[in-house]
Amino acid sequence: MTDRIETLLQFAERRTPRYTSYPTAPHFHAGVGEQLYTQWLKRLNSQKSISLYVHIPYCRELCWYCGCNMRATRSDDPIAKYVEGLLQEIALLSARVTPDLHVSHLAFGGGTPTILSDGQFDQVMGALRSVFTFEDTAELAIEIDPRTFDAEKAKTLAKHGFNRASVGIQSFDPEVQKAINRIQSYDMTKRCFDHLREVGITKINGDLLYGLPYQTRGSAWSTAEAVVSLDPDRLAVFGYAHVPHMKSHQNLIPQESLPDAEARLRQEDAIGDVLINAGYQRIGIDHYAKPYDRLAVLAREGQLNRNFQGYTTDDAKTIIALGASSIGRTPEGYVQNHTHVRDWALSVSSGKLPIAKGVEFTPEDLMRADMIERIMCDLRVVPDRIAEAHSADCPDIEIEDLITAGIVKRDSGALVLDPDYRPLARLLAAAFDAYLGEGRAKHSVSV
Ligand code: SF4
Repeated sequence: MTDRIETLLQFAERRTPRYTSYPTAPHFHAGVGEQLYTQWLKRLNSQKSISLYVHIPYCRELCWYCGCNMRATRSDDPIAKYVEGLLQEIALLSARVTPDLHVSHLAFGGGTPTILSDGQFDQVMGALRSVFTFEDTAELAIEIDPRTFDAEKAKTLAKHGFNRASVGIQSFDPEVQKAINRIQSYDMTKRCFDHLREVGITKINGDLLYGLPYQTRGSAWSTAEAVVSLDPDRLAVFGYAHVPHMKSHQNLIPQESLPDAEARLRQEDAIGDVLINAGYQRIGIDHYAKPYDRLAVLAREGQLNRNFQGYTTDDAKTIIALGASSIGRTPEGYVQNHTHVRDWALSVSSGKLPIAKGVEFTPEDLMRADMIERIMCDLRVVPDRIAEAHSADCPDIEIEDLITAGIVKRDSGALVLDPDYRPLARLLAAAFDAYLGEGRAKHSVSV
């Protein structure tokens, strides 16, 4: 075992948030509700672009590794009812936002958002376009499951202006696919890429996983090589989080089939090696992009952003989120919709924005959020400079163990994470988290 792997393993079991927000979601509370959010919405500045997120929590089948807020359905009825709810939610928002808000980014996530029919996309996109003005250069992104995608669906997406697709791949190893109940051949995935490109959706991301049941370093390597041949612009490479106490269907995956921490690291390294050799640039802790891609350009310039969808070119300080469980933000705080579709639908049908909880930023939250975002994006931070920009004192932090282990170095005011230890960036970020340890939040392991 190399010294690097040994050091990573030594810190691997520490549980920290993924820092796609700060304060993190477990610190949202019911004190933030519809009334406060309405005030925040009314104060939005129409000179600044906003983003939209729409959550569609339905899939045709359950993947056993799934950690998303979704439910499997063979019937179309719940989807039709859900679309009705979305239209009601858009109408409620339209009465509360200033007219002429400009949208620079829209993302549909799930679940399987392409489960909507062409007519349902007409309804939802038509309603969104009637309330918000989409900029000519707006990025319209959507998550795709190749197993339920075809040429007709590609045409529907193109018709509505979608120009980026995020394709779920995970692993091409047949044994792994059987163990996660997701059978998806290379040919099926290639057809999905072809359908997208044929209609002009050429900006394509891929999602890969390591740490899946029966996955090996060799199969992670082969999957990465196969994915390179599909030529996506960006790839996200995540570790499978086995949390059957929170996601009971994960009990269908036998514990003994899961690779241990060392094997997970070696799989992650193998995927990274293939992608770097193929010319991709490493972004933050778990993304890769072609060097010409805007994500890579922003990363080189230290301008990368991070939000609930991971690393992004989107720097909007406002994300209006629609659908059950979705999380939005304004410059004043985060809000989260009711997680259960039933509660969300009840709220919108009774004329109430479906906010279940949230958090209002304090000036200190905003400063710490900036510090954490720079660590997660750049693997370095100059805390004094950020504190000065916020006219605040720099927080005291304890990172001697990370310094002693050689994971973090001090360099004339900057804290710099050794790129070999990028999976541990969350540990440095956690040093700036004033809420860590409060409440009963459960986080995943760092590696
Ligand atoms: S397609 Fe995605 S959201 Fe749906 S069950 Fe599979 S992993 Fe979960």
